[in-house]
This record gives sequence, C-alpha cells and structure tokens, in this order.
Amino acid sequence: MSTPVYLGMPTAPRGVGHLRGADPFPVAARRALADSQLRRNLGRATATIRAKRAAVVGELPDWEELRAAGSATKANTMAHLDQYLEQLEEQVTARGGVVHWARDAVEANRIVVDLVRATGATEAVKVKSIVTDEIGLNEALAAAGIRARETDLAELIVQLGHDRPSHILVPAIHRNRAEIRDIFLREMGDAPAGLTDSPAALTEAARLHLRRAFLSAKVGISGANFAIAETGTLCVVESEGNGRMCLTLPDTLITVMGIEKVLPSWADLGVFMQLLPRSSTGERMNPYTSMWTGVTPGDGPQQFHLVLLDNGRTAALADPAGRSALHCIRCSACLNVCPVYERVGGHAYGSVYPGPIGAVLSPMLTGVGDNASLPYASSLCGACYEACPVKIDIPSLLVHLRARHVEEDAARLPSPEAVTMAAASWVLAKPGRLRAGQRAGRLGRLLGRDGRIRRLPPPLAGWTTARDAPVPPAQTFRDWWRSREGAR
Ligand code: SF4
Repeated sequence: MSTPVYLGMPTAPRGVGHLRGADPFPVAARRALADSQLRRNLGRATATIRAKRAAVVGELPDWEELRAAGSATKANTMAHLDQYLEQLEEQVTARGGVVHWARDAVEANRIVVDLVRATGATEAVKVKSIVTDEIGLNEALAAAGIRARETDLAELIVQLGHDRPSHILVPAIHRNRAEIRDIFLREMGDAPAGLTDSPAALTEAARLHLRRAFLSAKVGISGANFAIAETGTLCVVESEGNGRMCLTLPDTLITVMGIEKVLPSWADLGVFMQLLPRSSTGERMNPYTSMWTGVTPGDGPQQFHLVLLDNGRTAALADPAGRSALHCIRCSACLNVCPVYERVGGHAYGSVYPGPIGAVLSPMLTGVGDNASLPYASSLCGACYEACPVKIDIPSLLVHLRARHVEEDAARLPSPEAVTMAAASWVLAKPGRLRAGQRAGRLGRLLGRDGRIRRLPPPLAGWTTARDAPVPPAQTFRDWWRSREGAR
C-alpha cells in the first residue's frame, strides 16, 4: 500500500539526521584537532583525491558548461518534483516494481523491516547508501532481528569497527591500513591469521568474507544515485562490484531513495554521468554502473520495492533560498577541498552528512535548531562552491542558515548579542543617554592596568577570554571638543 507525499506538506517527526548524543561541532572539532593520527590520515587521503579530481576535470574543455547544465537540470527537477515523482511511480509500477512513500525515518524503516520479514530472511546484504544511514536502517533491522551486512569495503570496515562513517564517499577515510588490519583480525572471524596491511591482502580478505554473504543472501538493500522518471529506471554507481552483486543476486531488492534523486530523462543522466565520477573518485567513469527497470522475469531480483523518502526534504524544498541544497549528488568534492573538514574529519559534524554540504543539509533536514552549530563550521572561503559539480552556492546557504538560526533564536529567547544590540540602540538614540553612558563607562578605568582591561565581569567576561579591552580614556571626545572650543 503506498502513501503519497504531497510537496509542501509538513513532515511527521523526522529521523536521525543528527546523531544522537553527538557533541556540538565546536566541542567535537576541538577533540578531533588533538588527534594527530586522524589529521595525518585525512590530509593524505584528501590531497590524493583532490589531485585526481583536478587532473580529470582539467581534461574537459566544457566542464563549466556541464556544471551549468547539471545545475539547471536540478533546478527544473525541483520546480516540478511532484510531477516527476508521480511519473516515476507510474513507470516503476508498470514494470513490476512496488513503490512505497515514507514521510520520515520511522515510516521508511517500518516499511523495509516489514518487507524483509515477509521474505522470511534474517539477513540482508547492503550496497553503500547514505540515505539508509540517515534513517538508521541498520539499527532498525537489528532491533527486528535482521542482520544488515555492509558490502562496500569501507562500509564493512566501519561496521566491523563499530564505528561511524566520516566521509560521504570514503566512509573509513579516518582509518589507516594498520588500523584496518587490526579490525579485520579482531572482528571478521574468517580473516587469515597472517594478514598483512597491504591493500591487496586486506581487499582479498574482505572479498572472501563477503562472497559467502552474496551467495546466500535472499534480500538486497540499496540506495540510488539517480532514478529516471521517463522509464522508471534506477541507477547505482560504484567502484567495487559489490553493488552489482547485491543488486542482481538476491530474490528481493529494496531500494531506499531520497525524493530529490529523481531525474526527468535519460538525456539528463548523460550530464550527471560525466559530472559525478570526475568529482567523486577522480575517474573519467566509474567502474560499475548498474541500472534496472522494474522486474525482468528469470533475470535478477523477482521482487523490487522502491521506498521514496521525504524525511525533511519537502520542508527544505519549501525554503526558496535553501532548496538548492537538494541539488546535491553526494560526490563529496566539497569535503575534499574544505580546510575545516580536512582538519577535523567527518565525525565532528555529528551528522551522517559531514563537510560543507553536511553543514547545510543536516540543519535543513532536521531543522536548524537540531544542528545549530553546523552552519558556523565554515570559514566561508568558497572552495566548496568552486568544486561543486552542480554549482551549489554553499557559502551563501551557510550564511542563510546562520540568519535563520539567529531569527529562530530571537523568537524564542533574546540572545545576549540581541540584548546588547537593543541596549546600544537605545543609548545611541539620544545624545543625553550617550553622555550618561560614557560617564558610566569611565568606571571601567577602575578595572584596567597598564591601559588594558584583561578580565571583564560577567556577562561581558566572554569578550576578555581571548582578548584585552582598552581602558576607557579619562576624557571623552565630546569633553575634549568642548574644552577646546571653550579655550578659543
Ligand atoms: S554539495 Fe556539491 S560538491 Fe558537495 S557533495 Fe554535493 S554535489 Fe558534491
């Protein structure tokens, strides 16, 4: 039974976009900055990906035109999202698939749990999917007695390490090879005793471990990079071939997709297939592109379910200044060029969407109040905007979200800053009040030494924690002016 989501409709309580119990960004970032191993791992990995991306992007003389085309296609799709989603549902259904609509994480998880239960399976193999992290699907399946097995190498490392992904594309970017070998030896169960930390040995251990899961799985679970409305075709791009296994071997395939991933036509997909691999892995094309349309008798999964997820997206769409965040194709180019991300890593963002786009997307999906520190987790240098293949103006979105945060805060309880500004406005409105204020300010001279005030009393103490304040002069400018005029 499907439940359509109507655009603009307020969403039910949202899912787990912000990780429960996660510290706010400033606290988590300070902790991450103290971890020199983490900074080394991140610095090396992001520098490598940046160089690869720059090389393949530099090969295309029409890169800027491709970016403009991608941006225009996304803007058009968002403007008519309701039509394209209904067309997608019609086409998937006509080709033997079943479409489900989920307003939030709770609804999406319930749908997937019920679908897996209906097959009698207690295990499912998964293709790497951030949207299933967003809704906490693995945890929901585990609570229902169903084991979700991550099959992407990096996701497997994260899962075996009881860890959290820290990068959109390279979830285990914070781990080095020695750490991965230790995790495999400790957690995998069937890792060879003499396992070394060479990439070939680690990959072979994972390959053999996963092969058994692929061959016995009845249910596969995936996200989707794109869905083409005109034919109902779903598309997953990946590098390892594990996705192809999950998408073709099980009897039942369940795909969870954010509603913003739909594209109108195959012609549009052509643009994104040039933009995405170059921006994400720094490749001209990705090694595996899997596409499927409904169900094909005798070939591949015989049951196909598509779960279309809102979870805050229609609320983001209703914000004309912020909706371009939904254009994101999750390439992660903005993470790799961000000086903040490179130093603190993904965990500091406390969200499944880290980095510059996470600092925008997470507050938009969960409400600014739930991720209030993230719009400030940026130097606004603009490197993310330059790198983004669909030209999302992330710095402007961050400023927009900061303004929303300030406005929402002011509506609840005036902040110290707002109180100070209101007081300043009252004082500056009349010369007499300013004179009285200046006289009162001279009392500050009592707190100073050597012309500086090193510690102000509360509530002004915050100002002097990182800076000195000059001692107010004995004579104000007005007094000086008056005495000068009198002397004439
Ligand atoms: S915001 Fe742009 S650069 Fe960042 S992940 Fe999304 S598409 Fe890629």
